[in-house]
Amino acid sequence: MHYKASPLPAKKRIALIAHDNKKDELTEWAVNNASALGAHELFATGTTGFVLEKKLGLPIHKFISGPLGGDQQVGARIAEGFIDILIFFWDPFEPMPHDPDVKALLRLAAAWNIPVACNPASADFILQSHWIDKAYSRQIPDYDDYLSDRIRTLE
Ligand code: PGA
Repeated sequence: MHYKASPLPAKKRIALIAHDNKKDELTEWAVNNASALGAHELFATGTTGFVLEKKLGLPIHKFISGPLGGDQQVGARIAEGFIDILIFFWDPFEPMPHDPDVKALLRLAAAWNIPVACNPASADFILQSHWIDKAYSRQIPDYDDYLSDRIRTLE
């Protein structure tokens, strides 16, 4: 795989997701960090988005609810380069009907080299990072190169 630079912008597009048992934890973290979050563009899966919007008073772009496809929508936006940070408080103690979607989302975040937080400590580290309000030179898979390699092997 070849890589190329694709900068994350200074103003980040942040996706926020919490499983049901983690929604209070994410809400508390987001309220404590509302002014920092307000400097960025916020996205969320359906239910998480409604809960956070009410508590934060900040605009949030809402996808479909996670179990109905919202996690996959967020994953697709990551692959398209429209989400820069994923804050996903997933539940380590309960299996979910949409576990395959959760795994797919985390895989795409890893593949496209975006920062991911899974709990308040990692979310604090990301939000207080030097890079949170600066452009960051990220390396991502070079898709054009990947595609021409694939086509060559099929010819
Ligand atoms: P929700 O989805 O925000 O609609 O609850 C979260 C999830 O379970 O992925």
